[in-house]
Amino acid sequence: MIDGRYRIVERLAVGGMSTVYRATDVRLERSVALKLLHPHLAEDPLLVERFRTEAITAAGFSHPHIVGVLDTGVDGSTAYLAMELVRGHTLRQLLRDQGRLAPRQALALLDAIVEGLSAAHTAGLVHRDIKPENVLLSDSGQIKVADFGLARAATNQTSTGNLIGTVAYVSPELVTGAPADARSDIYALGIMAYEMLTGRQPFVADTPIAVAYQHVTGDVPAPSGVLPGLATDLDELVEFCTRRDPEDRPQDAEALLGEIRQIRRTLTDDQLDHPAVEAPDTASGSPVAHDSTRRVAATEPDQTEVIGRRVEPADATAVIGPEREATSVIDAAGATRAIPRPEETTSTGQLTAVVPAPDTTTADERRPRSPRASERQARKNDKAARRQWAREAQKPRESLESPSSRRRGWILGVVLLLVAALVATAAWFFGMGPGSPVQIPQFSGQPAAAAVQALAADGVTSSQRQVFDEEVKKGRVVGSEPEPGATIRRYQSVELLISKGPELFAVPNVVGRDDDSVKKVLKAAHVAAGTVSREYNESIAAGLVVSQDPVPDRQVRRGTKISYVVSRGPAPVKVPDVTGRSEQDAVDALGAAGLTAQKGGEEFDKTVAKGSVISQDPASGTAKRDSTVTYTVSKGPKMIEVPGVRGKQLDEAKKVLEAAGFTVEVHASSFGIIFGTVATQDPKSGSKQPEGSTITLGVV
Ligand code: ADP
Ligand code: MG
Repeated sequence: MIDGRYRIVERLAVGGMSTVYRATDVRLERSVALKLLHPHLAEDPLLVERFRTEAITAAGFSHPHIVGVLDTGVDGSTAYLAMELVRGHTLRQLLRDQGRLAPRQALALLDAIVEGLSAAHTAGLVHRDIKPENVLLSDSGQIKVADFGLARAATNQTSTGNLIGTVAYVSPELVTGAPADARSDIYALGIMAYEMLTGRQPFVADTPIAVAYQHVTGDVPAPSGVLPGLATDLDELVEFCTRRDPEDRPQDAEALLGEIRQIRRTLTDDQLDHPAVEAPDTASGSPVAHDSTRRVAATEPDQTEVIGRRVEPADATAVIGPEREATSVIDAAGATRAIPRPEETTSTGQLTAVVPAPDTTTADERRPRSPRASERQARKNDKAARRQWAREAQKPRESLESPSSRRRGWILGVVLLLVAALVATAAWFFGMGPGSPVQIPQFSGQPAAAAVQALAADGVTSSQRQVFDEEVKKGRVVGSEPEPGATIRRYQSVELLISKGPELFAVPNVVGRDDDSVKKVLKAAHVAAGTVSREYNESIAAGLVVSQDPVPDRQVRRGTKISYVVSRGPAPVKVPDVTGRSEQDAVDALGAAGLTAQKGGEEFDKTVAKGSVISQDPASGTAKRDSTVTYTVSKGPKMIEVPGVRGKQLDEAKKVLEAAGFTVEVHASSFGIIFGTVATQDPKSGSKQPEGSTITLGVV
């Protein structure tokens, strides 16, 4: 008796987290299904919470195709969940019995399941563990989705990757750690549709991790590949639901429901009744029961993988291994003994082996001979299945493995899953994530903001560095670090070099400097010498800079040419002619012309008056300003004593006088010159006369 209300009648199934019993609600006097969380798990508040979540989420709405939740509670160390009892079997059992379903039957089941799911999705719930084990088929023909144990309110999705569903039905996005949404359920439905139509699962491998890997990397094959002749619409349905990108799938169960109904309407009767039972290629029966070990791993994939900290290694028994469905009994001491189920598989520790099933029906009986025969066969199978269900209901279906081997399996599973997650993450990281390569475009000349945006659109972050640039306008991209064209990983940041415009330098002052030092100063200031011209300058000494262009302190670009003027010193002056002028006059005139007058001396001069300038040096042309002009001043003519030549012969007299510096003029007598003797002389001898003056001689 649980909680004073539910009396347990019989065990229906042992699950990973719980055991499901048929019980009587003594208060309302009706049968219910009672799900009891395993006692040791009830100590984990997180798991109790999960259990409660199932109750609350499922109780939140009711739908004919969802198992109704009635009550939940905790009795001592037992957490329980009461739900409506579905008397019948699971879709897993139906598949096991029939091998595969006719399209008509598969579509009818899908219709109901999807309708139920659609209601859940509309209520904001994602199931997260859609698989045949969780589809209950009642004897009265009802179809109900059970086990919202993993469901979470889709809007309240805080943690991701903690729990994933059964690996055979897990969607690629869940493997890679993305949050589940309605489209993950649709993926699982697609896998389930494939399984219903073909009797096998699309991805089969030895380890759960290998299966998960196939979901991420492989496309679900077309069901018609297994069952030739199957309508292409059905291939397309499976393909549509199982696209790897959730965006490409039907966006919700409602949309999918439309697809399913459309297909049901368009398929012909022949297509809907395409042989439901495959002609077996071995004589020994259904492919489920007589396949290889891998086959069993695939068809018994009820291992609800739990990763993260939800289940501690001590709780490893909670994880259902591939062998969980082996029929077993638990004896009084609690030791688990595996007993092979007649038509099923057996389990030996970690290894799942297959024993040929001594099936009640023979292969021949299963092969449809005609539609009628197959109908009969189906009814027969159905009856057999019900009988089987009744028998099976008497004994627990599932057992807990020995803790140590379960723990090993659990650890191996977790490690493999982590490795797959790592591989998937790495593939994403280097394929399209931050680790994927991208080529840096050429941005030069573009505005900085445009480059930043373009990089951001590629998922690349960028920083900026201001640099001077002579050509690129201020605020525009000069280049990048690494350079354009280089290939980087997206997580690596790019440094954009943004122009500050040209670097400017102050023009140095070179006025007053000599030519040599000007060159050095210009070079040090990052500018160059331009045209150098030379000019006379009255104030600045020759060889020094008089002026420059541009002027000092002006901001200019590197290498700008600075022109400057070098002084040739003062301009030359015209030398005035001062000869013949009085000394004072001459000195004044030379001074006015900018020259320095210097007296060179005095000389006798026959022509130039005493006190006047006889000559100058330089005498004409130009001279440097302030240079010296030397002049000579006249002392007037030299005075010479006239020698007496009276009585002397003319020739001699002439000689004497001319030698003394006079010129001689001869006056003949009125009789002419007879004797040639000097009779008179004027001026007289003994007087002093200027040199060169004329002495007149009267000659007879
Ligand atoms: P788990 O979380 O352990 O998978 P489920 O809710 O899926 O628990 O239940 C496990 C099994 O119990 C189902 O596969 C089904 O066989 C049986 N079961 C669950 N709910 C009901 C129910 N309401 N009526 C009848 N059988 C049920
Ligand atoms: Mg379940």
